[in-house]
Amino acid sequence: MIYCKKCGTQVQEGIKFCPKCGTEIQDQAKINDIEANKVMAVISYLGILIIIPLLKGEYKNSPFLKFHLNQGILFCIGWALTILLNVIPFIGGLLGGLFSFALAILEIVCIVYAVKGETKTFPIISKFKIIK
Ligand SMILES: [Zn+2]
Repeated sequence: MIYCKKCGTQVQEGIKFCPKCGTEIQDQAKINDIEANKVMAVISYLGILIIIPLLKGEYKNSPFLKFHLNQGILFCIGWALTILLNVIPFIGGLLGGLFSFALAILEIVCIVYAVKGETKTFPIISKFKIIK
């Protein structure tokens, strides 16, 4: 049996929205996935620590973790690019600084989403899928 997480109304399986309050009913498998992999999803954004969820391989069974791991990899690439930018004489330091500032803000937003158990993304970033 499934219950609406907002108002507690019992709803039948397969129903997408709570008949009483209209809240979206998430299926249990998805909720379990998020709860089980939230910590690893956050770790995916913590620089070199990303190798832990990558090596553990649980993302293969977790769409939620896979999503955040994928974005974590993109951030690693982003950080590598900032290092390259800094090498450019004169303007490199400024560009690298701006770029890393933007990256840091995006990364914090992504961590907040991971903690909240959401899989929101950004229009451009979502085009890149590194792990499938
Ligand atoms: Zn409800």
